[in-house]
Amino acid sequence: MAKILRVNMAQRNIIEEEVPEQLALLGGRGLTSTMILDEVPPGCHALGPNNKLIFAPGVVTGSAAASSGRISVGSKSPLTGGIKESNAGTPVATMLGRLRIKAIVVEGDPAPEGWWLLRVTSDSAELLPADDLDGAITSKVNEVLLERYGNRVGIVTVGPAGEQRMAMAGICFSDAEGRASRYAGRGGLGAVMGAKRLKAIVVDPQGAPGVEIKDQPLFRKGGRKLLDALQTHAVTKPGGTLNTYGTDALVNVMSEAGGLPTRNFARGNFEGANKIGGETLAETIAKRGGKGLSGHACHQGCVIKCSNIFPMEDGSEHVSVVEYESAWALGANCEIDDLDDVAEMIRLCNEYGVDTIEAGVAIGVAMEAGVVPFGDGKGAIKLLNEMGEGTPLGHIIGNGAAFTGRAFGVVRVPTVKGQAMPAYEPRAVKGMGITYATSPMGADHTAGYTVAQEILGIGGSEDALAVEGKADLSRSSQAASAFIDTFDYCLFIAFAILDIDTGLEGMVESINGVLGTEYTTADIDRIGMEVLRTERRFNELAGFTSADDRLPEFMTYEPLPPHNVVAGVSEAELDSVFA
Ligand code: SF4
Repeated sequence: MAKILRVNMAQRNIIEEEVPEQLALLGGRGLTSTMILDEVPPGCHALGPNNKLIFAPGVVTGSAAASSGRISVGSKSPLTGGIKESNAGTPVATMLGRLRIKAIVVEGDPAPEGWWLLRVTSDSAELLPADDLDGAITSKVNEVLLERYGNRVGIVTVGPAGEQRMAMAGICFSDAEGRASRYAGRGGLGAVMGAKRLKAIVVDPQGAPGVEIKDQPLFRKGGRKLLDALQTHAVTKPGGTLNTYGTDALVNVMSEAGGLPTRNFARGNFEGANKIGGETLAETIAKRGGKGLSGHACHQGCVIKCSNIFPMEDGSEHVSVVEYESAWALGANCEIDDLDDVAEMIRLCNEYGVDTIEAGVAIGVAMEAGVVPFGDGKGAIKLLNEMGEGTPLGHIIGNGAAFTGRAFGVVRVPTVKGQAMPAYEPRAVKGMGITYATSPMGADHTAGYTVAQEILGIGGSEDALAVEGKADLSRSSQAASAFIDTFDYCLFIAFAILDIDTGLEGMVESINGVLGTEYTTADIDRIGMEVLRTERRFNELAGFTSADDRLPEFMTYEPLPPHNVVAGVSEAELDSVFA
């Protein structure tokens, strides 16, 4: 029977609970957001005693469902002040699913000193002292814990940024080979874990009973249909775009479309795009003898395999993973076109435990203030090291783009609800702008990815610069994302299921097979909207209003080259998304 583990950091005890009936059909984001609304006072301080941090694998996670090894982390965000769900692809997710652990709830006010490690096995859960890991970078934590507990365990940890409660701190999960490289990066949830003084979680899957599946034939039938779709679609199939070039393939695509934010969102195209884009990335890995670009998966069971391992010039491993958002944030957004500098910055973000998007945008804002020049890769690396060392400047940048903008008096700060914008210029891709503005998560591309239709021609074809119809497109994309995040499939399955109806049916049939439900594809929007309403309710109670569902003012009056367009979405249109 599935269970919830409640870890009280004040009393340092762990209680095992049965899953209440009203939560039985939920997992991932749907579960974390429902529990946060039910259990966390919306007005509480995100780093205070009343906030909670909830880890929840998806409903199908741990089963044989393709590309479903993701875990959601929910909390009140120290970055936005609103509800947050951030997810990562990792074997930790599949391990918890197979152990039938529906959620781990970390709560309570810890003593102000000492660090703790939560160890979870098939028949026990215990808190152990972890002072020996005080200040450790994430790769060191994984090295120590893999040595101590064996290389079959999964590891969750925070780096020095999380320990120092920086608002851009993420939570790091081990990948398929135990690397500290997969992040629930957004929203500063690493700072919440640091505030709970939980340095790491070790999950040992030995003896796990596996995911309970109510209807095996239906589950297998649905799984086959989804798998066929993923292995057929040009973007997700073996040897397809994601498998060959990774998500970094988007750098050139977005720059050519005029929607790649460059120089702190001053332009929509980047002269150096090709030097950091997926094609150059693939060539560089091949030339240096690196392994893993084609065929590296963040967890066993992913059939898309978009991940990569980037090598140094001598072929030795430098970092995993150079992906689009990271290469853009630390590259184009800072006008840095040296792939090795970008890789080093990603490595430092991984080691110190910060979100690459928030880091790149905060550095871009600092560059606008003249702290270091645009294009200065070594200067940007120095700023990241300031964060790791916890210097005063490091704390300013480590608290995110909005905080950095306030500290230096910068007007052009690309954030919504205090969270940095990802790699799609909202003035040039209108649907994404509406998603950024209205998502309860703050600016977040994964919250409602309209780029598929607006730029890539997947699931339909829309004019990226047109506003008409985009409120509806954003709303339906946000609902679909909330649904997928609840069952914790990788969002990249969306490329296939948007175009191939049988893949979409297969996903729903797989879910029905696990739960014994009778959902149809028509339920996707309803379930997704229920999750969104839950999240928006929390935010309303925390004091958010429609005035928070807005793009930054400078985007309403500053035309963006090369299209020379402003945001151009009215307040009425933004308010219509969830009206
Ligand atoms: S497609 Fe990429 S991010 Fe998604 S589960 Fe697979 S390897 Fe991980």
